[in-house]
Amino acid sequence: MSASNVTPISEAANAEKPKLWFDGEIADVDALQVDLTTHAMHYGSGVFEGIRAYATKNGAAVFRLPEHLERMRRGAELLGMSFDAQQATEATLATLRANRHRDAYIRPLAWYGEGSFGLDVSGRPQHMMVSTTPTLVHLAGSRARVAVSSWRRNPADSLPPLKLCGAYVNSILAKRESKARGFDEALFVDKDGFVVECTGANVFAVKNGRVTAIEHRDALPGITRDTLIALSGAQSGTLTYEELLDADEVFACGTAAEVAPIAEIEDRRFGENPITRELAALYARVVRGEESASSKWLTPV
Ligand code: PMP
Repeated sequence: MSASNVTPISEAANAEKPKLWFDGEIADVDALQVDLTTHAMHYGSGVFEGIRAYATKNGAAVFRLPEHLERMRRGAELLGMSFDAQQATEATLATLRANRHRDAYIRPLAWYGEGSFGLDVSGRPQHMMVSTTPTLVHLAGSRARVAVSSWRRNPADSLPPLKLCGAYVNSILAKRESKARGFDEALFVDKDGFVVECTGANVFAVKNGRVTAIEHRDALPGITRDTLIALSGAQSGTLTYEELLDADEVFACGTAAEVAPIAEIEDRRFGENPITRELAALYARVVRGEESASSKWLTPV
């Protein structure tokens, strides 16, 4: 083998390096550093999204990108940040292309940066990044064991249900507690006994063939939830914890979780879940562009 057809190791390694979009440029992940006075690191003053791209027969496509970025815009607005959805769209597509990702999880994040430790964010530097990571593991099909959280969900009149960074400390506490008790996931129930959501997913119940998308003012208005309502004609409504335990099937849904059957809630075991399986399969076809409903929800990469 001659030297001319050997790719230098440094160049080969470079080609493999994951890239991300940061403040207008595509860069190597490991080339970037963040100032230790970054406001978002101290106070959670940022907003993010969790989005997915799927391999379809026409190439990679992002599922419901405008809706995700609109939710992010609302969070940014609340924090007083400027947010350009067109720029975020281009950044998302550019990052997917740079990483040559097809099935991918996409994480845009906008945050307040370096400066002082004061709580006033006006005039503070603002940054944005988009990272993409391959999603090789399909979560749908794994059956979660769920504990009821002793922590209440952030009430909407204290912290609105948007993807604000700091709000997720609440989810982290609940997740930690459920894991410590030997469960996989936590369910938030409010003080009046109404079901709110899981730490990063909305909840549905099925009773006598009727599908209910659980609604609560403190729960994130999920885009997967909205998709499943549109696909199945599920009713949106409130549900008490007792009613949830009385359901025939319960599942969680979200961009990352997709449609995830729940096997157990505390000591209540759920058996067969035919409707959940049917919805999970339908959702899997929709996100991959295999259904007529797909086209309006997919942005080609
Ligand atoms: N609730 C919470 C708290 C979440 O973090 C998520 C994930 N974004 C969801 C619900 C589901 O939302 P979506 O379907 O838009 O991903």
